[in-house]
Amino acid sequence: MNGFSGGSPGSELLVGEIRGLRTFRVDESGRLLPLYSDGCWYDGPNTAVCSPPTGDRRASHAVPADDCECGFYAYGSVEAAGRARAARYVQAVVSCWGGVVAGTQGLRAEYARIDAIWLGAQAPPWLRQRVAGRYPSARMFADKQAMTAEYPLTDLHCYRAADPTPWLSRSAAGVVLALVLALGLAPAGALHAHHALWISWLAVTCACAATVLCLLGTRSTGHLSAAAVAVAVLAWLVAPWLGVAGWLLRLPVLRALLVAAGGYLVALLPRHFPVEAERRDRHH
Ligand SMILES: [Zn+2]
Repeated sequence: MNGFSGGSPGSELLVGEIRGLRTFRVDESGRLLPLYSDGCWYDGPNTAVCSPPTGDRRASHAVPADDCECGFYAYGSVEAAGRARAARYVQAVVSCWGGVVAGTQGLRAEYARIDAIWLGAQAPPWLRQRVAGRYPSARMFADKQAMTAEYPLTDLHCYRAADPTPWLSRSAAGVVLALVLALGLAPAGALHAHHALWISWLAVTCACAATVLCLLGTRSTGHLSAAAVAVAVLAWLVAPWLGVAGWLLRLPVLRALLVAAGGYLVALLPRHFPVEAERRDRHH
């Protein structure tokens, strides 16, 4: 999520509008929502406000700011925007202006407007109609390439080519996850009996505990949910020492694995198109 701010380019104030590409969720009323928050986008100009995580009282500042994560996010290339799984369903070209912080993959901006919307081929016709009705000033596209051809993305000098092998880091993450899960399933006796196993368990558990402490100490977006994940993994690792009762500690991770597997299987259905339930309280 925070790939934008990393690297050397830093911030710069740019004049005029910059076009970027975003992936959205869509709800049953046709409103477009960000992937990681519930503030729906409006037709025409949208104004970003700073809403840091709960309990964080930062000094007020112009949006966006270097040391904050506020502002409307947009990617600078089709490749960078295409990494999210949801990118296969809804994407939109957005024009951004006002205060802008640019990074290696995209930018954050003070103002943004949806110019063009693409919905995947599986989107039901009624949903297309509702989206078009919600965003009358945006053009609807059935072909993603046609959209970015008619609404070309702005190429900023600070953009870098997206990492061509994200599958490699995903595979590595999968292997690490599998090893951690295996450690948490080893019986306590086995952990004691094998030196290498014991050292591995100790190292991973300490690293996990340290991660929990670090996350609780930081104030970045999503730190609480990340801390909850780390606590669940820590509980999983401690579970072998509690025997049968340890399965209670394993419940959060087991539940997450089931939900992830279910979501993966549903997404395999050829006609699948995710539509969120409508909520009345959605606003910026
Ligand atoms: Zn802010």
